[in-house]
Amino acid sequence: MSLVYLDNNATTQIADEVRDSMMPFLTDLWGNPSSMHTFGGQVKKYIETAREQVAALIGAADPQEITFTSCGSESNNLAIRGGGEAMDKSPHVITSKVEHAAVSGPCHYLEDCGFRLTKLDVDGLGRLDLDTLQREVKAGKNLTSIMWANNETGVIFPVGLIGEMVQEAGGLFHTDAVQAVGKLPMNVSELPIDMLSLSGHKMHAPKGVGALYIRRGIKVKPLVLGGHQERGRRAGTENVPCIVGLGKACELAGKMMDDENMRVKAMRDRLEEGILDVCPGARINGDISSRLPNTTNISFDYIEGEAILLMLDDCGICASTGSACASGSLEPSHVLRAMSVPGNAVHGSIRFSLGTYSTEENVDTVLTELPRVVHRLRELSPFV
Ligand code: PLP
Repeated sequence: MSLVYLDNNATTQIADEVRDSMMPFLTDLWGNPSSMHTFGGQVKKYIETAREQVAALIGAADPQEITFTSCGSESNNLAIRGGGEAMDKSPHVITSKVEHAAVSGPCHYLEDCGFRLTKLDVDGLGRLDLDTLQREVKAGKNLTSIMWANNETGVIFPVGLIGEMVQEAGGLFHTDAVQAVGKLPMNVSELPIDMLSLSGHKMHAPKGVGALYIRRGIKVKPLVLGGHQERGRRAGTENVPCIVGLGKACELAGKMMDDENMRVKAMRDRLEEGILDVCPGARINGDISSRLPNTTNISFDYIEGEAILLMLDDCGICASTGSACASGSLEPSHVLRAMSVPGNAVHGSIRFSLGTYSTEENVDTVLTELPRVVHRLRELSPFV
């Protein structure tokens, strides 16, 4: 049975070119980039090349605006906790109800420290309530964190508009772009964005590396202390192989994004239309007019998403009920609940997220197996 991997929002396969770029740093070039001697010191320039590659993909004006971290979660923590704690007065923290836990966690941490926290609603299509945001940002100094694209539904938020509102009111705007970088074109130097998080393993680089864009002049209090690395923003000897791999992945994404997006979107649309055609009572969750090209989140009335996943797994198909951390618990997704998806559908939702290595055959396999799975589970459901 061959693997049908349609869970690219959870993690992605490392690209061959990325792996090859890392190999010298796992074999011969193992020196410490901070060393005075040539053997170690020569490694430093490869970190700087990677910094340039990351900066180029997101349009940062200066590579020094990129700080390497261990993952998207750390980037979000550094931006929110570190950004909030570095502001003169305790700011009002504003976020949404559909953020990843790596954003809501540090926001709640700041709340526990005495900061005021507001979590904004979304509508039935997962779109942010911009009128409330406008009112809230005007109420005083704020740190606002809103994701660029939602990991469960793929819904894209208007970060340009949001950043404008926040900055006009004198606030600081961070965006969790972990699901957007490499999938959407972006130019942070032309956008009102102060900080932006990204993660290597979501874009064909390895796990264990991420980055935070921090616009020049913005202060953050480091989370990891005790070293001069990353200009004092993140102590610790650099994870050179993974940083080099992330740089390579950014270079590849920049070259391939347009063509890949068209190919992946066409497959996603065929998958989605095929499922809606053959599975009565299926519905798409999220705003289909503003969505990542690779993601579809579908609800099936009166059956459990977890049961669908287990039966798909038996056919070698990898999908998800949403965020990897929520999978495994029977709690319905906080994203779908915030969107007021009805009770009979919220438990029966699954996410397919395609990627560079997805094929038309993968789509065919799902379109063959999924209707059988849904039919079988409906036969067993006491609610149908
Ligand atoms: N933010 C979003 C939107 C995500 O989807 C994820 C991972 O699923 C993260 C943050 C966390 O990234 P990492 O796994 O690199 O810590």
